[in-house]
Amino acid sequence: MQLEIDVRDRKVVIFGGHPAASRVVKRFAVAGARTTAVVDGRMPLPADRLPSVRYAVRPEDDSLPDWMNLLGPAWLVVMVGLDGVTEQHIRTLCAHLRIVVACEPPADGHGVVTLVGGGPGVSRLLTLAARDALREADVVFYDRLAPTAELQELAPAAELVDVGKRPHHHLVPQAAIEEQMIARARRGASVVRLKGGDPFVFGRGGEEVVACAEAGVPVLVVPGVTSSIAAPALAGIPVTHRGVAHEFTVVSGHVPPDSPESLVDWPALARLRGTLVVLMGLKNLPKIAARLVAEGRAPHTPAAVVQEGSTQAQRVLRSTLGEVAAAAAEAGIKPPAVVVIGNVVSVLGISS
Ligand code: SAH
Repeated sequence: MQLEIDVRDRKVVIFGGHPAASRVVKRFAVAGARTTAVVDGRMPLPADRLPSVRYAVRPEDDSLPDWMNLLGPAWLVVMVGLDGVTEQHIRTLCAHLRIVVACEPPADGHGVVTLVGGGPGVSRLLTLAARDALREADVVFYDRLAPTAELQELAPAAELVDVGKRPHHHLVPQAAIEEQMIARARRGASVVRLKGGDPFVFGRGGEEVVACAEAGVPVLVVPGVTSSIAAPALAGIPVTHRGVAHEFTVVSGHVPPDSPESLVDWPALARLRGTLVVLMGLKNLPKIAARLVAEGRAPHTPAAVVQEGSTQAQRVLRSTLGEVAAAAAEAGIKPPAVVVIGNVVSVLGISS
């Protein structure tokens, strides 16, 4: 069972070594608890201490007055990675004092980078694994496509680094992001790279895995709900439908179809009968739609554009392949948006 409790102004006593318990300590301190961190032996260095936290050394087992002083009147005791004997001792005292006890896993202090798929925008579409990774993060690198609205709550102990900021109208370059992530992980931090949708769908996740692997930094991947399926779904468009579309293809429209840099086989795509989902394709939509028609896809094929799917700003425009580019421009549709082309667009009979 999971409960959300307001710990503001409550006395919370956290047992655990440094740095194993430091993330837990920070989480409670940030949440406004009157936090006491009880370390076993070595006190954290002044630079590693939080100003609002009281630090204490664990009393000897038999020194009851010291224990009473420490625990009374605590509202919650949290144990992080204690040995069985110590844990039992604290549990017994807390049972007498009627203090609720919780256990949390210790941080192992080994740096790791976790690429987390953030889903299409709202935090409700984060996976449980994504939430866990954020909760345990020391630092989160995020950009504008990630679900940022509640990031502070989702990653209370983490430093949040916006790598999608445009200080001089430039994003932080990919190589610099990778360097920063690796540097932090090497210093023992649990690093989360939060991305929109799924990290491996046009998310440059693969490059980051390679960079970490080359640097010898362990890397984990938490898949996410990709906008290429979720944005259509939230607009009432199933990407496949029995008897209508037995395939769906996701392509990037970032590079115009007539560019020598394009790796997309547009004539082959035009021959498909199933669903085509175009990401990053709004700017080049006139060229993309015209090319598909020129290569043989029927101009009356249903087409839709879903802007900012899942968020408050979600907008859906339904049209046809022949007219969708002009209609989207006229309606002022803005990125991020996915374009869906195929008979699935109208299959559920939803028209707005
Ligand atoms: N990894 C992401 C895609 C990154 S590419 C994923 O799996 O969803 C960025 C493109 O994704 C945008 O240009 C847009 O086409 C699409 N996109 C991301 N979030 C979106 C959303 N909420 N609604 C519509 N399209 C979205």
